[in-house]
Amino acid sequence: MHQLIKGVHKFRDDQFGNYRKLFRKLSQEGQNPHTLFITCSDSRVLAELITQSKPGDLFVVKNVGNIVPPASVQGDTNSTAAAIEFAVENLRVSDIVICGHSQCGAISALLGELPVPDSTPHLRDWLKLAAPVLDTLKNDYSNFHSAEERSNAAAEENVLFGLDNLHSYACVQNRLMDGSLRLHGWFFEIATAEMFAYNPETRHFSPLIAEK
Ligand SMILES: [Zn+2]
Repeated sequence: MHQLIKGVHKFRDDQFGNYRKLFRKLSQEGQNPHTLFITCSDSRVLAELITQSKPGDLFVVKNVGNIVPPASVQGDTNSTAAAIEFAVENLRVSDIVICGHSQCGAISALLGELPVPDSTPHLRDWLKLAAPVLDTLKNDYSNFHSAEERSNAAAEENVLFGLDNLHSYACVQNRLMDGSLRLHGWFFEIATAEMFAYNPETRHFSPLIAEK
């Protein structure tokens, strides 16, 4: 906690000056983020840092394993749905990124490589939402044997599962139909900070390149 409090003061004293105008503008005019960025709660995946975004740029949802449940999932397992609806309907973001990552603990737990104890029933139920990813892994990746290969494949498939599920939200459907919303699947490699993007034409994740 000491480090956290020190950081708050350090930001105010050393950094805030650079952002004063921007924060004032954002406080007066409200936020207008261009992207809903859905990623994992993992402490190593910092959405703003790895995309070099400024305050006001991203509407960030972090959850365990960057899981996007289908719209049909109700109740306390789907607070992510509220964020999707708010970002798409109210904030009118133009893009949604689902960003998975390497060495994901949630993915390891999903694969049964990390135990999910009885003392974490919410975690168990949450991870169950991504169970279809396991079926895909069994069917399409049976030749992937190393733990790293399986984990990365599952993390990528989980991103694609999330993209599929985004289509089940009425607000997303409407915005896709009128062409005002784009969906993206990304995968972040922690050790090298490389970012990979899903290409629907090749059906593979390949290094993210700048848009023309
Ligand atoms: Zn993770």
